[in-house]
Amino acid sequence: MRDPRYDILFEPVQIGPVVARNRFYQVPHCCGMGYARPKTAAAMRGMKAEGGWAVVSTEECDIHHTSDISPYIEQRLWDDNDIEQHSLMVEAVHAHNSLAAIELAHSGRMAPNHFSRTIPIGASGGPNPGFDPVSARQMTLRDIRELRAIYRRAALRARAIGFDIVYVYAAHMLTLPAQFLSKRFNHRTDEYGGSLENRVRFLKELIIDAKEAVGDRCAIAVRWMMDEMMGEDGLQCDEEGIEVVSMLAELPDLWDVNVSDWDNDSATSRFQPEGFQEPYIQRVKQVTSKPVVGVGRFTSPDTMVSQIKRGVLDMIGAARPSIADPFLPKKIEEGRLDDIRECIGCNICITGDYTMTPVRCTQNPTMGEEWRRGWHPEIIPAAKSAESVLIVGAGPAGLECAVALGKRGYQVTLTDANDDFGGRVLFESALPGLSAWRRVLDYRMQQLHKLSNVETYLSSEMDLDNIIEFGADRVVIATGANWRTDGFGRERYIPVPGSDQSWVYSPDDVMNGLTLQGQVVIYDDDHFYMGSVMAEVASNLGAEVTIVTPAPDVSHWTHYTLEQQAIQQHLAKLGVAIRVQWEIKEIGDQSVSFDCCYSERHMLLSCDQIIMVTSRQPNDELYQSCVDNMDQLRSAGVLTIDRIGDCVAPGTIAAAVYSGHLWARQLGDDDSDSELPFSRELIKVSA
Ligand code: ADP
Ligand code: SF4
Repeated sequence: MRDPRYDILFEPVQIGPVVARNRFYQVPHCCGMGYARPKTAAAMRGMKAEGGWAVVSTEECDIHHTSDISPYIEQRLWDDNDIEQHSLMVEAVHAHNSLAAIELAHSGRMAPNHFSRTIPIGASGGPNPGFDPVSARQMTLRDIRELRAIYRRAALRARAIGFDIVYVYAAHMLTLPAQFLSKRFNHRTDEYGGSLENRVRFLKELIIDAKEAVGDRCAIAVRWMMDEMMGEDGLQCDEEGIEVVSMLAELPDLWDVNVSDWDNDSATSRFQPEGFQEPYIQRVKQVTSKPVVGVGRFTSPDTMVSQIKRGVLDMIGAARPSIADPFLPKKIEEGRLDDIRECIGCNICITGDYTMTPVRCTQNPTMGEEWRRGWHPEIIPAAKSAESVLIVGAGPAGLECAVALGKRGYQVTLTDANDDFGGRVLFESALPGLSAWRRVLDYRMQQLHKLSNVETYLSSEMDLDNIIEFGADRVVIATGANWRTDGFGRERYIPVPGSDQSWVYSPDDVMNGLTLQGQVVIYDDDHFYMGSVMAEVASNLGAEVTIVTPAPDVSHWTHYTLEQQAIQQHLAKLGVAIRVQWEIKEIGDQSVSFDCCYSERHMLLSCDQIIMVTSRQPNDELYQSCVDNMDQLRSAGVLTIDRIGDCVAPGTIAAAVYSGHLWARQLGDDDSDSELPFSRELIKVSA
C-alpha cells in the first residue's frame, strides 16, 4: 500500500498536448547502445516504462551527419533509415502507457565528424575543444536556415515514429544552440551574435519551428543548463542562465533543467549529495508556468515530495536512479521502499558511454542484459531443484549471489569470517566521500531479511574441513581479494626492491586502522579512486602527503567516471603534492626512488610510510584447496565448487555484483547449446 504522503508523486502532469501519468521522468541519458544496438536499447527503455517512469527519453539523438560524434554510440536520426530502430523503443515504452521522448541534438563544433568526414560547423569557427586536431567553420546565414530545416525534418520524423515529446537540446556545451548562446563560443557580429537577444535567437527559432511542425501532437521540451560552474568564464545561473529562461519562459511545453558540463551535472556521491542541483532548478520554476523537470540523483521519496511541495520542480528527473532501479516509481507506489535499489553515485554506468559498450550498473546487474540475456530486474526464474548452496564470503559478490539464489527459492547458507557483512564495501564505505557505497550492502541485507530460505553466519571463517563437514550440494567461494604491497601493477610485473620492509603498506592496512603520520607517499599504479582516497585519508590525519603515479594525471581512469578534475582539484586543495609520470624504482631506507617515464631523470623522496596502491590479488587459497581435494568434497555430497567476484579476478564492485548474480541465474540452466551466453545484434549484410 502506498503511503498517502507520496500521493503527490503519482499525480498526472499535462505537458503541452500530452499527459504524463505521474511525475517520474527518465531524462535523456547515454547508454552505449544507441544506433548500434537498437533492440538492447528498446528493451532497456521499455523496462523503465514497465517500472513506472511516466516519461522515458532516448539519449542524445544526432539529427544530421554534420553532427557525428563517433566513436561514441548515441542515437541518430540522419534520414529515414534510422526510423525503424526508434520505433522499437517507442513501442516498448508505449506498451506500458508511458510517454516516449526524443532528444534531438546537434553537437556543432564539438562534433569531430570522424565518420562522416564533414567539416564541423559552429556558431563561430575554431578548434574542437576535445583533443581532436579538427576545426569547425563558422556557419553562414544560409547554413543556419538549412539547419533549422533539418531540425524541423527531424521533429516531423520523430512525430511520425510516435514520439510524444520532442526535445530541443541546449544543455551542456556539447550542443549547438548552447554554443550559439555562449560568449565563449559565439563571436559573430550578425543577428545571431553579440547581445543576448541575438545569441538566443537560434534556440528560440528552433523551439518555434518545432512547435509549428509537430506541436499539435507532441510536447516540445527544452533541455537547458543554468550554470557552467566556472564563474565569470562561463554561463552563470543568476545572470544569463535565468535571463534566457525569462526570455523564453512560456515558449516550450516543458523545461528540463540541469547544470553544465556533464561532470557537474552527473557529479558522483563523493563530491555532491542528493538534490544538489536544487538552487539552479528552483530559479527556473520561479519564472515559468510550464512544468519543470530537474535532476539530483533522487532516490528518497521524501526528498522528491519536498522538492515538489517547496516549488523546486514539477517532475522528478532521473538518469542514474532509473538505471540502478528501473522499478523505483512502482516500488514507491506499492509502498515497497525497502526494495528500492538506491543509486550509489559511483558513475560506473557512465563508463559504458566512454568505452562505447552497453551501460552497466553497480547496484543493478541486469542493466544492459534485458534483451541479450532476457534478464528482468525484478523477476528471476524459480529454482530448478531443491539443491542447497553454501556461499563463503559476504562481500558484494557473495551477497548478490545469496539474494538472487534466495529469490529463486534455493536453500542458501552465507558465511563470512568477519563480524559484519559487506566485504570490501563495508571498509570502503567508511572512507572519506564513499559513504553512499554502503547502499550496495544495505539493499542486499534488506532483501536477505525477507528470505527465510537464506541463513547467514558471521565470524565464521571456513576452511576445507568446515566445507566438507557442512556438505552442501553446491559450494561458491566469494572470498575476495587483498591489496598487494610489492608494487605489482599496470606498469610493473615484478616486485619493487625493498617493498618487503615493515613501513610499506597497502590500502587494506589503512582500512584496518593503520595511523598515517609524518611524510607519507602514495604510489598509485591502480588509477581508479583508491589512490586519491588514500591521499585524502592521510591528509585528513595531518600527514605531509605526496601522491606519485606513472599516469599523466591523478586517478587517470576516473576520466571515465567524470571525476578526474574534481579529484585533482580536491587533492590540490588539501595540499597534497602531485607527481605524475614517475615510475617506482626502489624502496630504500625511509626513502623511495622513482624513474621518469620518458627520460633518464630520477627522483628521490624521503618518507615515513609508503602506501602501495597498485593492484589486488585474489584471496583464493580456500578455492584452490577445495579443487585439490575434490574427491573428499564429492564424498561429502558436494556436486560443484565454483568461485565468484574478486576471488576469481579482482575488479570493480559492479563486476563482483554481476559475477554473483550471473552464477545464481545460471544454476540449473544447462539446457542451452548455444556457443555464446548472450544474443548479439548482428549487422545484416544485404545484396
Ligand atoms: P567480492 O568483492 O568478490 O565480493 P570481498 O573482498 O568484498 O569480495 O569480500 C570477500 C569476503 O569474504 C570478506 O568479507 C571476507 O571476510 C570473506 N572471507 C574471506 N575468506 C573467508 C573464509 N575463509 N571464510 C569465510 N569468509 C571469508
Ligand atoms: Fe548509480 Fe553507480 Fe548504478 Fe550509475 S552505476 S546508476 S552511479 S549505482
